[in-house]
Amino acid sequence: MKVVLLEGDGIGPEVTSAACRVVAAAGVAVDWIRADAGLNAAETHGDPLPEVTLDLIRQHRVALKGPCTTPVGKGYRSINVRLRKGLDLYASVRPVKTIPGVKVPYEKVDLIVVRENTEGLYAGLEHQVIPGVIESLRVITKPACERIVRYAFDYARTAGRKRVTFCHKADVMRLSDGLFLECARAVAEEYPFIAFDEKPIDNLCLELALDPSPFDVLVMENLFGDVISDLCAGLVGGLGVVPGANLGSRYAVFEAVHGSAPDIAGQGIANPTAVIRSAAMMLDYVGERAAAARIELAVARTLQAGHGLTKDLGGTGNTQTITDEIIKHLGA
Ligand code: ATP
Repeated sequence: MKVVLLEGDGIGPEVTSAACRVVAAAGVAVDWIRADAGLNAAETHGDPLPEVTLDLIRQHRVALKGPCTTPVGKGYRSINVRLRKGLDLYASVRPVKTIPGVKVPYEKVDLIVVRENTEGLYAGLEHQVIPGVIESLRVITKPACERIVRYAFDYARTAGRKRVTFCHKADVMRLSDGLFLECARAVAEEYPFIAFDEKPIDNLCLELALDPSPFDVLVMENLFGDVISDLCAGLVGGLGVVPGANLGSRYAVFEAVHGSAPDIAGQGIANPTAVIRSAAMMLDYVGERAAAARIELAVARTLQAGHGLTKDLGGTGNTQTITDEIIKHLGA
């Protein structure tokens, strides 16, 4: 099987190579097609997201991606925004679940953040009206609202989940979130067997901080989803453990929630768990369900056993030791 690999930059090469080791150890023969993205690509191709990289993903359909930095102040548009828009990866899906052994103040967190990936304030449409005055456009369209809410309900149905919560700020952004809310309510009626509720985004933050356990599937606009994804990662142990997928009707790109972490890059101490779990999501997507489940189990056992863990998980190990432990538990 061919899968495009975007190592990215910062800790990207360290954590993606750990993920490739784990996939191989799980017995899936992946032919990784390496493609450039991030700081290195900006230097070698003059573009942090070269067209050739997008073409490789279009050709092979599935990619595993490390974090990529968009050079700031050089006129480049965000790599992630371009990738998601260019491949129409309209749904970002981030499963957030308490992991036994990872010390957090919360128990029984098991929720999915579904984020609209192509519109909202991250549409990237900004302009200067006059010097000192900038306008950013928040684009909300009916088809995009309907398809992301439908995605959330379809996900809930196939994953056996019971409740979809739509998060918004319709009392302030009456037109844009008003339309989104209207679409959400209409789509919810197509799924009478799944509970639906609506929550203003500020209330959601408060309730997540107090007790995240009742939440199931959350669906929301792009910027809200970006913020809530990081918040939810914090509920279960931080950025180092939460995986993610960017999905469209044709292509799928799997990546961790975290960024390139330049503060710890090149030291071999980054936690590869999030990218390893993203690789497991990728395997599940392509139908390698048994291998995906084995990797998830091996990660859970490793974190519970507590040996070789990286510093962010309270351990004294490094990228290699935790990867070795996960591979060891694959065979258990
Ligand atoms: P971006 O804007 O690209 O999403 P960010 O500003 O959210 O990035 P990150 O690069 O995700 O920042 O890093 C935030 C903090 O979390 C940093 O202190 C970083 O070292 C830490 N961190 C991120 N990922 C990991 C990881 N895999 N292992 C250990 N620490 C990490």
